[in-house]
Amino acid sequence: MKKLLLAIATFSLLVACGNESKKKDNSAAQEIIKDQVVNVYTHRHYQPDQDIFKMFEEKTGIKVKVINASADELIQKMKMEGKQSPADVLITVDAGRLSRAKDEGLLQSIESELLESSIPSHLQDADNQWFGLTKRARIIAYAKDRVKPEELSTYEDLVNTKWKGKILVRSSSNIYNQSLMASIIANDGEEAAKIWAKGIVANMARSPKGSDRDQVKAMVAGEGDLAIVNSYYIGKMLNSPDAEEVKTAQQIGLFFPNQEDRGTHINVSGAGVAKYAPNKENAILFIEYLISDEAQQVFTDANYEYPILESVEPVKDIKDWGDFKEDNLELNKLGAFNKKAVLIFDEAGWK
Ligand code: FE
Repeated sequence: MKKLLLAIATFSLLVACGNESKKKDNSAAQEIIKDQVVNVYTHRHYQPDQDIFKMFEEKTGIKVKVINASADELIQKMKMEGKQSPADVLITVDAGRLSRAKDEGLLQSIESELLESSIPSHLQDADNQWFGLTKRARIIAYAKDRVKPEELSTYEDLVNTKWKGKILVRSSSNIYNQSLMASIIANDGEEAAKIWAKGIVANMARSPKGSDRDQVKAMVAGEGDLAIVNSYYIGKMLNSPDAEEVKTAQQIGLFFPNQEDRGTHINVSGAGVAKYAPNKENAILFIEYLISDEAQQVFTDANYEYPILESVEPVKDIKDWGDFKEDNLELNKLGAFNKKAVLIFDEAGWK
């Protein structure tokens, strides 16, 4: 508790200094704050993040310098830079990649009572090397005019021959699918996972291509009846400035699989402090800010993700989808089984 109070006090102090620096242009405080930076390597490809980074800058006076690339590229970059790396924080859209960064020695354990106590334990690393920031469910979207939700049940049931030629899903090179597969290995075992992968390939409506949104569009165009997608893409389509996307999203239903057993597969966007972070204190403050109520509110309101904190209200569209049971698998397992997942995909011919 003491540490928590200290963290809050430190944060408030910085927030206060940030405001102070705006008022007194020549103050020493401003000098100190002005040069403060946090270097963020991020794979998150969403505009609302920029708004949140701005909010953090305004609150603390700490400048957020962003390097945007895929998680694999960022991990590679951090490896090459070694001790010289300017990276303070690594953000990815998937726990599997964070867990890989940890295994490669690119992150460090930090002390933050706030992060540790606020984030559910299965959504953070046991060694405090990374923390979940937002949740996303990998769900089954279905064509409302052709499928009744009663016909759906589990990820496992998607291999049922009744779905032959009906399933739309993106390529296996995508981390969202790799993590779903890792969760199936963790829950059902390797042999069952192999059979599942082959069964899905046999039921595919077409050879995998495109993004999650493209699967939904293809489904509405009649290419298949079911699409495996991340939940927030549906929220984004429903609220898209493109009227065509809105119309498309309105024609589909959302199904949360495995409600009678382990629950729907959940993944997180998350962050960790880089091993050689030159601005470690700022990095911790930055990650702590990302789970503040106001940052969490933007993540859900503008990006349709589930807040990592129970205390934050999900955006209306998400609430309309209803509560559901989440798979509480420890997310480090997504990293642990990633290589196996990729091998099984290859073996099954899932492009
Ligand atoms: Fe995404």
